[in-house]
Amino acid sequence: MKRVLLLGGVTEALAIARTLGPQHIYSLAGVGRVPTDLTCQVRVGGYGGAEGLAQFIHDKGVDLLLDATHPYAAQISQNAATASRLSGIPCWALRRPAWQAQTGDDWREVSDWAELIQALQPFRRPLFTLGREPLQHLQEIPPEQFWTLRALDVYPGNERCEVIGARGPFLIDDERELFERRQIDVLISKNSGSTATEPKLEVARERGVPVIVLTRPVLPGVDREFLSREETLDALAAFVQ
Ligand code: NAP
Repeated sequence: MKRVLLLGGVTEALAIARTLGPQHIYSLAGVGRVPTDLTCQVRVGGYGGAEGLAQFIHDKGVDLLLDATHPYAAQISQNAATASRLSGIPCWALRRPAWQAQTGDDWREVSDWAELIQALQPFRRPLFTLGREPLQHLQEIPPEQFWTLRALDVYPGNERCEVIGARGPFLIDDERELFERRQIDVLISKNSGSTATEPKLEVARERGVPVIVLTRPVLPGVDREFLSREETLDALAAFVQ
């Protein structure tokens, strides 16, 4: 019987994991919630790089690696591609399509933190939705700015930054209220392509608020790439039968 190692990290990965039988393994970094109600095996924590992952694949007799990690989780995707080469098993990936700017959007793309800080200069009340990375820069906030930072969990802020802990999916009315109450004048976002976090973009559009978008990392080539959970499940069903 074929064994799949599913690298998770996004909502679609959990949905796929729910369909897997007990011989398969669902692998998580351990940064988010770990489900306890799955039929498949759940493994939490890193492998120590591509070689460690290849060793695990060998030890467990894995036949297929399925990368369903976040589009900005570039390291694990690279490790997966390398480990599949080292192990001689195929690597597939579920890669969510990116959001596309629509009429009325003012999106400004930046590729790193330095460019982001430059692009932020004209603004006063940014809303960061990048995860934890901005926490490392709280001492650099210019006196004329007040940052709102939304991450999965609450962390200490400072006199010029408030950190909100919240997990999607986010509702449009709540996002409207957030932008209004905090007088957000610029949104900073990854281009995750997730419907769960998309309402903030609609609110930015409604309010004419610019969006600074962090460029997606380049991900490695894989044997098969899927754009949706449904496509991935069809291919998996054919592979494991
Ligand atoms: P990353 O930089 O690509 O990965 C860092 C390290 O974490 C990897 O080298 C690996 O450690 C370990 N790791 C990552 N995903 C793993 C998995 N599914 N199973 C076992 N180990 C894993 O990724 P990240 O940006 O820190 O994200 C970590 C996890 O959170 C990913 O699963 C990702 O899908 C999820 N996530 C990320 C974002 C984001 O914006 N980056 C957003 C939502 C969810 P070893 O090298 O030791 O194996």
